[in-house]
Amino acid sequence: MKRCANPHCNCLFTPSKYNPAQKFCGSDECKRFRDAQRQDRHYQENIGNQEWAQQHLERKKQERERRVEKQRRRDNGHELFAEQSAGLNKALMQLVAGIVSLISGAQDVESVESILHQCWRTGSEFYPDGIRP
Ligand SMILES: [Zn+2]
Repeated sequence: MKRCANPHCNCLFTPSKYNPAQKFCGSDECKRFRDAQRQDRHYQENIGNQEWAQQHLERKKQERERRVEKQRRRDNGHELFAEQSAGLNKALMQLVAGIVSLISGAQDVESVESILHQCWRTGSEFYPDGIRP
């Protein structure tokens, strides 16, 4: 048994038989801590090397650009979804109003809306939490 080297964890663990020198337990948080420490050590060891430092900056810049581009695509996706669902909502409401008018014979907006509200009330009394598929 060993103590995990992550000061936030400090738990007892049994090192893997394939890695008897293991310093961190197997939790995801401690693996992230280990990787962050390793990355930081690597950085400190190399930052004095001008060529490495230049490449490091370039890599970070590319990472940032990829991240920004990914977020931009995600935002576009959400926008598209909101547009589509607004369009769908509109079409659905038109369809329901049409059905109400055809079935009830109501010919004006006020009558159709009044029937719609009665339907909503009745529907939500039957299914207060909606209908689960
Ligand atoms: Zn740990």
